Amino acid sequence: MLTVSNYHYIRTDFKSKYASIFGLTPNEFKNQLLLLKSQGDFIKPSDLVFNTNEILKSKENFFFITFDDGLKEQFDFALPILEELNIPAIFFINSRNYEEQKVSTVHKIHLLRSIISCSEFLQKLPNIFFSDSDKITAINTYKYDNEESAILKYILNFKLDFEQQEKIVKNLFDNHFDEGEVLNSLYMSKKNLNDLSKKGFLGSHSHSHYPLGLLNSNHIKFELENSKKYLEKLTEAKIEILSYPYGTMETSTNEVAEFAKNAGYKIGFTTKRGINTSAENHLLLNRFDCNDLIGGKNYNKI
Ligand SMILES: [Zn+2]
Repeated sequence: MLTVSNYHYIRTDFKSKYASIFGLTPNEFKNQLLLLKSQGDFIKPSDLVFNTNEILKSKENFFFITFDDGLKEQFDFALPILEELNIPAIFFINSRNYEEQKVSTVHKIHLLRSIISCSEFLQKLPNIFFSDSDKITAINTYKYDNEESAILKYILNFKLDFEQQEKIVKNLFDNHFDEGEVLNSLYMSKKNLNDLSKKGFLGSHSHSHYPLGLLNSNHIKFELENSKKYLEKLTEAKIEILSYPYGTMETSTNEVAEFAKNAGYKIGFTTKRGINTSAENHLLLNRFDCNDLIGGKNYNKI
């Protein structure tokens, strides 16, 4: 059986004007790895590709460590700890950050929310019809957020299509940040990607970090194929594992998984919680957020 633990931000200090970026400190990361290490064995990306069924069907506890979004801090803070403990991992990259030199909208939102309040952000959005029942749905959807934050997230994610969202967020972002500077400080360098590739630690997170299941077929294919092609050309190595952006049921559908398979991927990860055993579609494997596993902030709450 296979338990997958996924990470995003790994930084020493999460202080900001408004809390919008969450993750682990390097110490918390290391402590969790040590706890997992006491409960099973870690597998390499290539083990997973070549021995998928054996790993899934095994009675032994196998763990796999994954990172989404290609953040530089993962390379700077997490990789040295992984190397110290001799634990393999995979890092999922969005090719658009490199090929088009653009910051992903999801990160633009995180950065904006760290410097402007929810109410200011809400004021900057265009007039959108928002009913009382929308408000209730928003609050129920984002149970861990306060009301304003729940409404903001609900509008961004459900009341705007992703093209509208991208345009609105871009305008706001450009007023507050220099895209080139953010690109260099937030994401790994091409050299970092090549270093990871040499270890066999590189995977795709699609091209643009869009919700794949909500796109049309041609767009889904492009997102999957282009990212693979770009990373393979850059590193001269095969890219066979991917994680779907957001990874929810709506974004990583059977159709998306089929396109991924046709594009040449062997393994795909969602964010559906659960341990993987024998029967799963290899292109739709379950994955825990690190906070839901032992040593994580929500571990005792599940
Ligand atoms: Zn992501």
